[in-house]
Amino acid sequence: MAEDNSYESHPDDLSDIRASVRALCEQFPGEYWRVLDRERAYPTAFVEALTTAGFLAALIPEEFGGSGLTLRAAAAIMEEVHAAGCNGAACHAQMYTMGTVLRHGSAAQKAKYLPAIARGELRLQAFGVTEPTSGTDTLALRTTAVREGNDYVINGQKIWTSRAEHSDLMLLLARTTPRDQVKKRTEGLSVFLVDMHEAKSSGGSGLSIKPIRTMMNHATTEVFFDGLRVPAENLIGEEGQGFRYIISGMNAERVLIGAECIGDAKWFIEKASAYARERVLFGRPIGQNQGVQFPIAKAYAQMRAAELMVQEAARLYAAGKDCGAEANMAKMLAADASWAAADMCVQTHGGFGFAEEFDIERKFRETRLYQVAPISTNMILSYLAEHVLGLPRSY
Ligand SMILES: Cc1cc2nc3c(=O)[nH]c(=O)nc-3n(C[C@H](O)[C@H](O)[C@H](O)COP(=O)(O)OP(=O)(O)OC[C@H]3O[C@@H](n4cnc5c(N)ncnc54)[C@H](O)[C@@H]3O)c2cc1C
Repeated sequence: MAEDNSYESHPDDLSDIRASVRALCEQFPGEYWRVLDRERAYPTAFVEALTTAGFLAALIPEEFGGSGLTLRAAAAIMEEVHAAGCNGAACHAQMYTMGTVLRHGSAAQKAKYLPAIARGELRLQAFGVTEPTSGTDTLALRTTAVREGNDYVINGQKIWTSRAEHSDLMLLLARTTPRDQVKKRTEGLSVFLVDMHEAKSSGGSGLSIKPIRTMMNHATTEVFFDGLRVPAENLIGEEGQGFRYIISGMNAERVLIGAECIGDAKWFIEKASAYARERVLFGRPIGQNQGVQFPIAKAYAQMRAAELMVQEAARLYAAGKDCGAEANMAKMLAADASWAAADMCVQTHGGFGFAEEFDIERKFRETRLYQVAPISTNMILSYLAEHVLGLPRSY
């Protein structure tokens, strides 16, 4: 531990970018998030500031107007956002959802969308995969896209489509071939770029959005499609191969969410350490008791171990190597580390851990999400069991 009681746990070459993110986040203190949390309101000013600074375009290549940074750098950005007590959930998908267009879109689609996304003029941060009846069982999704002339006609429903009300475009996964007519179970699903403005302005009948009030301030929704027409030119890649395209984008998402969890864990540990040093009871700081200091030290060790896995997954991804196992483990270990740190932080603060003005209960609720979304822990364990350890497929 350094003399100033802060710790340096990211020996990377990204200190400049980390410092810039920190400086930006200082303009959005706990009070800003508290008010939004109370009102379940979208952090518009924060998202605009991140966009203007170019952070959300970190992964877009320079030729399309982005900064062309690596996933390591993007992860550092999201980690710092969370370590500063802010929350990237309102906009993190703007960073990685475009990856599907970048990797699988046509030259015309890339030229049309990526520069505008990089400038922040277009928001592509709605991702429509999960459905009420299929949940984790993505291949059982029921939303259909049927070709009619130059359009596809979409019918069905998505749930938990976050940021749909704050996005111009949605990346949508829908069934184009009935499940009993495909050769491989992973075929028959296709990805579309849905222009939500156009959909809403065309009378509003084809697309409707219903917000879901959740445990934490998260702009998530149900989205209903009723005969929505999407131009065939908005199909990404080949019809029927959409599941593969979506899967290929998930490693980046897992690493970035893992980095957010590391940021949360650092915030909880910092907060708990400071309080344990300052709070004096029975004539000494509570942090002098091993019963108080050990859980903080344990949370720190758990965070550092998870941080290494996040860094390893980001390194492999940036090197173009397969990182499915590492990205999944990074997300799981980081989510566990942040949740353990959250619990420890509440305990260290005693009753004050429950008071709104300490921000701990808000961050506690926020970080709980990552045990479930974007992929729940059981699914990660199943992946490791089957694909890494060669155990029989369980579902
Ligand atoms: C706030 C929030 C935001 C979200 N944002 C988005 C978004 O933007 N876009 C999007 O598409 N989705 C989004 N999601 C959905 C999220 O990805 C799912 O909630 C998550 O994948 C789990 O699916 P489910 O809720 O349907 O749970 P279910 O699939 O119904 O599973 C319920 C429980 O059973 C367990 N389970 C299921 N099957 C098995 C099995 N075979 N073995 C062991 N355990 C099993 C799961 O792990 C889980 O704990 C969001 C969810 C939330 C809560």
